Amino acid sequence: MKTALVTGANKGLGFEIAKQLGLKGFHVFVTGRNEDSLREAVQALNMYEISVRYVVMDVTSLDSIEQAFTKISKECTSIDVLVNNAGILKDHSLPLFEIETQTIKETFDTNTLGPYHVTKCFLPLLQNGARVINISSEGGKISGAINTWAHAYCMSKTMLNVLTRHMAEALTSKGILVNAMCPGWTMTDMGGKDATRSVEKGAETAVWLATEKHQYKGMFFKDKKIINW
Ligand code: NDP
Repeated sequence: MKTALVTGANKGLGFEIAKQLGLKGFHVFVTGRNEDSLREAVQALNMYEISVRYVVMDVTSLDSIEQAFTKISKECTSIDVLVNNAGILKDHSLPLFEIETQTIKETFDTNTLGPYHVTKCFLPLLQNGARVINISSEGGKISGAINTWAHAYCMSKTMLNVLTRHMAEALTSKGILVNAMCPGWTMTDMGGKDATRSVEKGAETAVWLATEKHQYKGMFFKDKKIINW
C-alpha cells in the first residue's frame, strides 16, 4: 500500500487531498497542529473506510516536525507522496507598509520555511519515485502584474515557488519529483464563501500530480496544466 503525508490536513484542501488519496488506496498520515481537529478529521475519513492515522505536526516548529518524523518512521519505511499544504493568509488587504513585521515572518515561517523543514526532515523516508507537491498560489506569480492584495502571503508563495525549483533540482539525483500547484480560489476557511471552486476541484491537480504517471519536476501547475511562475 502506498503512503501519503499531508500537512494541514484537518480541514480545507488538505483534508480533501487526504480524502481523495485515501479513496485511491493510499494509507494517509493527516497532520496538523491541533489534535482535536485531527481526531475529528480521522473520524470523518474513517466513514470512507480510508486507511488513515493522525500525527500532530506544527510546520513552524522544528521540534514538532522531528517528533512527527520519529512517530511516522516507526510506522512506515517510506512515504510515496508528501503534500506540503499547510498555509496561512493573515495580511488580506493591508497595504504593504502597514503589515506588521511579525505577520510577514509568521507567514514566511509557515508557507515557505514550513515546506522546506518538513521535506528536509522527512527526506530519509522519501525514496526514488516519491513525489513532493507544494500547494502554492497564483498570487505568488512574478510573471505579469504583481498582486496588490495579501502582499505577505503572495511573497511567501513566490518564495515557495522558487523553493520548489531548488528542491526539484536538489532531489533529482534521488529520483524525487517536486512540483508546485495552485488550487484556484477555493471555498475553505481561507478562500471564504464567495470562492468560485469546490474543495473537490481545488484538490484535483494535487491528487493528479500525486498519482498520474509523469516525470514532471520543478514545474507549476493549475488544472493539470503547466502555468508560468
Ligand atoms: P485553510 O485555512 O482552510 O486550511 C489551512 C490548513 O493549514 C489548516 O489545516 C491549518 O490548521 C493548517 N496550518 C496552518 N498553519 C499551520 C502550522 N503552523 N502547522 C500545521 N498546519 C498549519 O486553507 P486552505 O485549505 O484554503 O489552504 C490550503 C493551502 O492551499 C494553503 O497553502 C493555501 O495557501 C493554498 N491555497 C488556497 C487557496 C484558496 O482559495 N483556498 C488558493 C490558493 C492557494 P489549523 O486548523 O490549525 O489552522
